[in-house]
Amino acid sequence: DRLIDAEAATDDKSIDRAIRPRKLVDYVGQPAVREQMEIFIGAARARKEALDHVLIFGPPGLGKTTLSHIIAHEMQVTLRQTSGPVLEKPGDLAALLTNLDAGDVLFIDEIHRLSPVVEEMLYPALEDYQLDIMIGDGPAARSIKLDLPPFTLVGATTRAGLLTSPLRDRFGIVQRLEYYSAADLTSIVKRSAQILAIKTDPDGAAEIARRSRGTPRIANRLLRRVRDYAQVKADGRITREVADLALGMLKVDALGFDHMDRRLLEAVIEKFDGGPVGVESLAAAIGEERGTIEDVLEPFLIQQGYLMRTPRGRMATQSAYLHFGLASPRALQS
Ligand code: ADP
Repeated sequence: DRLIDAEAATDDKSIDRAIRPRKLVDYVGQPAVREQMEIFIGAARARKEALDHVLIFGPPGLGKTTLSHIIAHEMQVTLRQTSGPVLEKPGDLAALLTNLDAGDVLFIDEIHRLSPVVEEMLYPALEDYQLDIMIGDGPAARSIKLDLPPFTLVGATTRAGLLTSPLRDRFGIVQRLEYYSAADLTSIVKRSAQILAIKTDPDGAAEIARRSRGTPRIANRLLRRVRDYAQVKADGRITREVADLALGMLKVDALGFDHMDRRLLEAVIEKFDGGPVGVESLAAAIGEERGTIEDVLEPFLIQQGYLMRTPRGRMATQSAYLHFGLASPRALQS
């Protein structure tokens, strides 16, 4: 299992609930998103209307679910949560929609994985708060229209490009979450440490933040693992040195890359001569799913300047060669 996997599956749910911010003011970083949401939420509340539908996209662990909960909290409405693959039949969606109260937030995670029939049923619901339901089949089949209360759909997805354009067009508000700066992640680590009563030096918090792949979920998870280390191998306090030793043991390197990041970069460099290499070949070479490469691994490596996406495939940059102590073939040529 990947230690710094950004998926939620192995998170301790009660700890997760305790450290998840509930209000917009506690949502660290993402200044543009926060400023806009503050205005849109304030305006909708003043008009006593449901907030317009919101699409949030960004890699796993950056705070999409958290933001959706915050939206419901700030709008003072109930949040119902589901996900694209769970809504198999139109009836599943109809049951959810007809149970909403006016203004409620319906959060659909992985909204790009809705089946086409369910997605089609969503269109009139989003546009006119109406549901077209087919009753019976064959010649006796007929459709009836149901009025829904005004509601807010919050959809989350890893990449906006995965959505069909008719669905994307129906969101009035689109927010893209960016990887967090080390400074913002330091605030998040300090905040979590305080809530969980973990003794942490500012330098210790900064070291964890710096090596968390720009991702709050990873920062919180590394904090808990470093705490374990500090408890057993030191006096319980997370200093910079303790954080460094613990992260070294966890094989999270100085840049925050874990073994999967390194495996990907090494494959591009060693098996494909630095690229360009197509994502399918890369996936086969490292035994990882294409989706994981595209959603989790490469966005961070690209953002950090270690990997490039070109029309002919992925290429390792000079920084990647330097990171592994290798001479870049392109540097030699020039
Ligand atoms: P996503 O839905 O994008 O996968 P989550 O919303 O589940 O990510 O976020 C993962 C964890 O990271 C949350 O439990 C929360 O504690 C923390 N987190 C995310 N965004 C922020 C933020 N802006 N400020 C503080 N903590 C955050």
